[in-house]
Amino acid sequence: MQTTTDDICARDGCRFHVEHVLIDNRLYPTTMCGDACRDFAWALEALRAAPDSPEKAEALADMSMYARILSERTEPMDIGALFGGDDG
Ligand SMILES: [Zn+2]
Repeated sequence: MQTTTDDICARDGCRFHVEHVLIDNRLYPTTMCGDACRDFAWALEALRAAPDSPEKAEALADMSMYARILSERTEPMDIGALFGGDDG
C-alpha cells in the first residue's frame, strides 16, 4: 500500500514508512528506514570526525562491512539496532 507517509531512506535509498520520534518533547520524522541505518549513519559520522589513526582505519573497514550487510537485507527491520539499543 502506497501512503503519503512513505519516504526514501537517507542512507540506502530504500522506501520506508516514516515514524515519529520524541526528542526534547518535540516529534521529529525519522529519515531512515530503521534503527540499523540510523546507528550506521551516526557511527560513520562520528568516525569521520575522529582524528586519523590505525584504529580509525580499521573501524572504517568494519563500517563498509556493515554497509554491505545492510544493503543486502530485504526488509528494513531484518537488522535491528547495531549498537545495543537503549542500554548503550
Ligand atoms: Zn535504510
